[in-house]
Amino acid sequence: MRIGFGNDIHRLAEGRALMLGGIAIPSKKGEVAHSDGDVLLHALIDALLGAKALGDIGALFPPSDAKYKDADSKELLKKVLELTKPEIINIDATITLEAPKLRGYIDSIRESLSELLSIDASRVSIKAKTNEGLGEIGSGAAIKAECIMLID
Ligand code: MG
Repeated sequence: MRIGFGNDIHRLAEGRALMLGGIAIPSKKGEVAHSDGDVLLHALIDALLGAKALGDIGALFPPSDAKYKDADSKELLKKVLELTKPEIINIDATITLEAPKLRGYIDSIRESLSELLSIDASRVSIKAKTNEGLGEIGSGAAIKAECIMLID
């Protein structure tokens, strides 16, 4: 078995969609990014690449490459799944943001990841918390995701 860890942070701004795990969450602000900015999928991709010791998302999909402008992170994940062909045992992720409250969306995010990864939703854990008003995340200027993954 092997383990991988990934994290990501993005700035938040009005007029952008808040993408988490491949779905849009109703929110005043969304991630600012070269791609669609799905912070959870980016952390997940890095966990997957980490488990296989294959580098990181920035090396694979350079932000300097115009090809990835407004890229759908689900498509990036599909490419990484083709590359790594993982047998995923489970993933556990934490999203840190001040607003909106994600409690009502956690199961939808789990379902989306379960579909994207072709694994049962019981293998996908998603947690959400605030940063207690501290720092850039606490002020609502940024969102962070961390993800750990075990593969066979
Ligand atoms: Mg990112």
